[in-house]
Parts: sequence; structure tokens; C-alpha cells
Amino acid sequence: MPTPTRSLFLLLTASTLVACGAGAIDNPEDSAEHQRMHALLDQYATVRLEADVSHLSANDQEVVRLLIQAVQPMEEVFWYQTYGDANAAAELARGDPATLEYLGVNFGPWDRLRGDEAFIEGIGAKPAGANLYPRDMTPEEFDAAVADNPELGSLYTLVRRDESGGLIAVPYHEQFAQAHADAGAKLREASELASDPQFANYLRLRADALETDDYRASDMAWMDMKDNPIDVVIGPIETYEDQLYGYKAAHEGYVLIKDMAWSGRLSRFAALLPSLQRGLPVDARYKAETPGTDSDLNAYDVVYYAGDANAGAKTIAINLPNDEQVQLAKGTRRLQLKNAMQAKFDEIMVPLAEQLIAEDQRDHVTFDAFFGNTMFHEVAHGLGIKNTLNDRGTVRTALREHASPMEEGKADVVGLYMVTQLFERGELTEGSIEDHYVTFLAGIFRSVRFGASSAHGQANMVRFNYFQEEGAFTRDAASGTYRVDFEAMRAAVDGLSELILTLQGDGNYEGVDELMLEKGLVPPELQGDLDRLDALGIPRDIVFEQGIGVLFGR
Ligand code: ZN
Repeated sequence: MPTPTRSLFLLLTASTLVACGAGAIDNPEDSAEHQRMHALLDQYATVRLEADVSHLSANDQEVVRLLIQAVQPMEEVFWYQTYGDANAAAELARGDPATLEYLGVNFGPWDRLRGDEAFIEGIGAKPAGANLYPRDMTPEEFDAAVADNPELGSLYTLVRRDESGGLIAVPYHEQFAQAHADAGAKLREASELASDPQFANYLRLRADALETDDYRASDMAWMDMKDNPIDVVIGPIETYEDQLYGYKAAHEGYVLIKDMAWSGRLSRFAALLPSLQRGLPVDARYKAETPGTDSDLNAYDVVYYAGDANAGAKTIAINLPNDEQVQLAKGTRRLQLKNAMQAKFDEIMVPLAEQLIAEDQRDHVTFDAFFGNTMFHEVAHGLGIKNTLNDRGTVRTALREHASPMEEGKADVVGLYMVTQLFERGELTEGSIEDHYVTFLAGIFRSVRFGASSAHGQANMVRFNYFQEEGAFTRDAASGTYRVDFEAMRAAVDGLSELILTLQGDGNYEGVDELMLEKGLVPPELQGDLDRLDALGIPRDIVFEQGIGVLFGR
């Protein structure tokens, strides 16, 4: 049963689509404000979220329908967590359909693609703690209160004021009792029909968890599943919405159909990890560790995004669970969302390549190579070195705030090393190494488009600048396009792999810091090329038409 809040927002949003789509221009649609909102909306390409479900039994197809209904209440919960009253948010549009639609995309009046800047005048800055804490709470007040009541710092509580103004913790399962019950009822219904017994068990445990906010048993059961053709992620999961402390998890949901063919290929490549580790282009000392065999990496088509997952930029890969106790006991699972990646490829990578890749190399920008590069990035996290060679502890502690961007930078370039090796050994035969190299370059443009200010943006720029200095690609001044030199690129992949693996193995914080300072910047020439993409209206991200009707036709 949809909640009133959600149905109102959907109703208003539906009328938006009619008003704008029909092209009936009347007030307020020709106002400057409406045009500004349309330009913001145009940052997102709209994509129908479809997937093949024909291989599923009738019962399992019904399970998918039920799971879509189960995750829908996450929308209303996330509205409350990030903003508060969704109906009040709708009023901010003052009848302008484009504004209303953009409020829906962002779950509030702050632009998630533009550093949360307000897109409605007079609204003020977004509270760092969203609606998870009282807005007038000071850090000193919270620190003092949480010392007495650890529940205030829990992942699964809201912080509110009691009648005397003191801080209290309100558990999610109480605040969101109705939404949790609605979701749980659908999960239990689905568990009766699911063909895979382990999946049915997970669904029951997840429904129980929503009643208590104790998710550990269900997370354990989720890690035990191996052969389920359907999957669902549901509940309070990630903590990014809490920019104040990073304590509070926000609600979201994904309904997923497993891609059995790609998942099979991936487990085959995982078996090659030890020999790929031995072949790494670095001194033997830096590859002495046995690569992680934790290779629970699978491909999925996603058929529904809800709540936090559906706000602003869309995730194309998930790595869960976050519970460190479960991670220690069972590891983690990496889920690659193939149809969402395809959508970003079609809507963003292809038009971007038309602007920035040399015309005669554009055919090398393929979805298979994009998907492959992304998958091998994930596998490459298992290669290299986790502990420093000189008593500086783990690479993670030694490199401090640079650890994560260095590790992501390593996975990018070592992933490309793996692709190169697998082609040379005849293990990969579809497409060509040229596809992977040119697509990799186009992928760098996609990642650095939004600046090098973040740590990951810096790591992307290090790679771009290193490759350019090594002649892995050149820029044609007349056309403003870039061309890969395949031989130089192969050498640069080895060179950068060696550089990063050595910095990691030495725990060389100063060396990484220097590298970031020296190569972590966007050169003005590239910035000009990236500005061209915005001027041409090439989308920055995607929004979905999704649901039971889209998936099954109705
Ligand atoms: Zn990664």
C-alpha cells in the first residue's frame, strides 16, 4: 500500500510529465524560472529501466513484483530522513511542474549534482545532518549527550528533542513502523514463492530485521546465498547522507536480476588471479602476497531503485554489507549493475566520445569494453599488496587520507593490466585490446568531468597526466580530440602500475602526497574540452522510468 506522501508526490510528478511533455506552453511554463529548471532537469537523461525476466519461473516473476512493492516504502522514509515532510517540499514548487520534478529527483531543494547548492531561492544551505538530527543541535551538545546515551550515535536511530529539550534517540523501527511493516509484509509474501530456499530464508530474516533494526542475521544469510537468480537490497544501508557525523544509515532499496552468464565468466577469471599476481610489472617484493580469493563478484540487471539509491547520481556498483562483523566472518559481495551501466554508456559515454575521441578511433568505444574495464577494476582490488614492507603497518593506515584514492587508482590501472594479459594469453577473445584502451580513455573523461576536487577526482587526474606525459594519447589541437597510441599505452599501464604498487608497498605517504600535488590537477586545455561537454548539454547522469509496468508491460 503506497503511503499518502508518496502517492501525492507521484501524482504531482505525473501531472508534471503531462504538462511538459504535451508541449502546451502557458503560464508558468514559459517563465524564466521554468526554463532554468528545465536546464537543470536536462542534466539527467531519462532511461526506461528494463531487464529480461523471461527465464524466471512464474513464481519468481511474482517475487520480483512483490520485491518492487517491498522497496517502494523506502522512498517515503528517505524523504523524511533527508528533508522532512515531502508534501511541504512539493509546495516549494509553487505550481511549476519542472521545479516539482527536480525536487523529486533530488529528494528536496538542494542540487545533488552541484554540491548540494539550493536551487530554490531563499531556501538556505542544506543542514549537514539532513533531517537526521535537530537542526539547532551543536557538536558540543551531541558529544556530551552521546557519552551518556550511545544509542544517539547508532546507525539506526534519529536524534530528536524531548519535551524538556534534551536529546533522545528514536529507533527507525519505531519512527518508520508503518513503512517497515509494509515492506516486511511484501518480503514475507515473496519468501513463500521464491524458488531458491536460501533466498527465501534471507527475505524472512530481512523482514524480521525491519521490526527490530538488528540486521546482522539477515546480512549473514545474504552472504551465504550463492545461486539465487533474484536479489534485493533493502533497509537503512549507507551513511553518506549524514554529512555531520556519518553515523546514520539512510533507507534505500534495489531489486536485482542476476546475470548468470557474466557471473560465470567472472568466477573463471578469479581462478587466474594467482598467476596474474605473479606477472605484475613490479619488483618481486611488492607481489609476494597471495591475492585475495574473496571474489564474490557478480553482474545484475537492476529493475528498481528506491530512496537513497534513487537520489541524484545513480550508483552502478554496490559493495555490501557494511557491517564489519559480517565482513570478518563472510567477506563482502560486489554487485555490478549492468543495465544501469549500459544506460550511462549510451547516454553519456557515446556522446562524450563523439566530442573527445579521434574520429577514426570512436568505434573502439564499446559497451563490452566499458563493462569489462569496470569488472576488472573490481577484480584488481584483489591484486597487489595490503601490508607495507617496512613496518609501517597496512597500506591503508600508512597512506591515511590518500589510501582510498590510491587503491582506486591502482584498481583502475591494474585492471587494465589484467585485461592486457588476458588478451595476450587468449583468455579474452571478444572485442579487442584497442577497444579496452580507447574506452578506458573515454572513461577517464567521464570521471574527471566533475572536477579533481575530490580525492578520487585527484587520482583520476594523476592517471590522465601520467598517461599524457608517457605519450599514451595525444590531443589534436584543431579538433580538440584525443587519440590513443596503443604501444605507448601498454607501456604506460605497466609503468603506472609499478609506480602505484611501489608507493603502496613502501607505505610512502610523502611520495603519494607529492604525486597528487604534481599530477592531480586538471590542465586548462582539458578543462576547456570538458566545458564543451556541458555547453553541448551532454547529460551528467540518468533518471529512471521504472516499476512493475515498465518491467512486465501492462
Ligand atoms: Zn574500486
